[in-house]
Amino acid sequence: MKSPPESTRRESVHWTVRMNRRNRSASYVLLFVALGSHLLTIGAPAWGWVALALNYLVYPHLAYWRARRADDQRRAEMHNMDADIVLAGMWVSALGFPLWITFILCASGCINMVVFHGGRGGVRFLLNIGVGIALVALAVPLHWHPETDLRTTALCMAALGLYLFAFARDGYERAIAQHAVHAQLRGQFDEIRSLQAQLREQALRDPLTGLFNRRHLDTVLAPMLERCASQGASLSLLMIDIDHFKRVNDTHGHAAGDAVLQALAQLLLRHVRPQDVACRLGGEEFMLVLDNTPVAVAAQRAQVLRQAFEALRVRTVECELAATLSCGVAACPDSSQEPRALVVCADQALYAAKKQGRNRVVVHAPQARGF
Ligand code: GH3
Ligand code: MG
Ligand code: MG
Repeated sequence: MKSPPESTRRESVHWTVRMNRRNRSASYVLLFVALGSHLLTIGAPAWGWVALALNYLVYPHLAYWRARRADDQRRAEMHNMDADIVLAGMWVSALGFPLWITFILCASGCINMVVFHGGRGGVRFLLNIGVGIALVALAVPLHWHPETDLRTTALCMAALGLYLFAFARDGYERAIAQHAVHAQLRGQFDEIRSLQAQLREQALRDPLTGLFNRRHLDTVLAPMLERCASQGASLSLLMIDIDHFKRVNDTHGHAAGDAVLQALAQLLLRHVRPQDVACRLGGEEFMLVLDNTPVAVAAQRAQVLRQAFEALRVRTVECELAATLSCGVAACPDSSQEPRALVVCADQALYAAKKQGRNRVVVHAPQARGF
């Protein structure tokens, strides 16, 4: 069977395992040299050298191999770190707690534990080092031999310095990588937010004309009417319908019809104030909500609109079109203060405008409701 490509195999190794392999292999060579110097000074027997080589030259590779093969690689690597410290405990107690060696083994082990486990890592370190010392104490009586010579002390200092350097560099690289990921995520988040805003906006807009749609009207009309009622102000609805629009479509085609709808939408937008709302209700029906506008003013504005539309010429590739509109006006509080009823009143006025011959404005007469 073919083995997976190198990149896939690298990807499948947990980052803690990869990082510890590199750091452990490098720092253990330094420890081998520092502890070797001490073994040389005290004239250690051959088995001491064998143990040193096994622990500091062979063990890092075994530890990596074991963690890499584990189902839960991170957990296996944490156990490797426990083993690192147990072995360190065994070395320092077997050597009689030489101060500099004890210091560098304990400092590096404790730092590692705290990095991966936080404050609890300190306790875990103490337990592991205690286990290492106890294992040696079970085999031989503990002794006290704290001195190290100048060479070993210098090597210990160098080893610790290099270890801290590597550790700091790892921290720096991780911070840079995290910063890059964070920036990327922030960019994606901003993009999602702007897409959401775009979708929200699109959900309220008619795609052909860009005017608001009926959904938006339903959302804003009730609060606008409530505000008018509380302020004792007026609000007028202009319901607009293009006359004989079907004929425009039938004679000039659907695209020409669309151009007329767009031209009327632009005209409406030119005639509304920022506080007004212009909607396409569907087909060739439009609605203007004129905020703070009494019915007489609304009727005048409807006339201006009607005349402007009548005078408008819509140019398409093939022809020039003209159309007219009919408009029904209903106002709050004159006709109704309730949104749905007010729309019905405007619709009734529009129906009357159609009935009276089209191309005209009819104002809903409250006393004649239901005509
Ligand atoms: P009236 O004067 O009584 O309003 O007559 P009308 O022909 O304008 O009204 P009718 O309701 O009979 O026809 C409306 C037409 O509008 C029918 C439909 O095909 C057309 N229409 C609806 N939506 C669109 C659209 O988005 N684009 C185009 N081009 N036509 C549309
Ligand atoms: Mg029509
Ligand atoms: Mg219609």
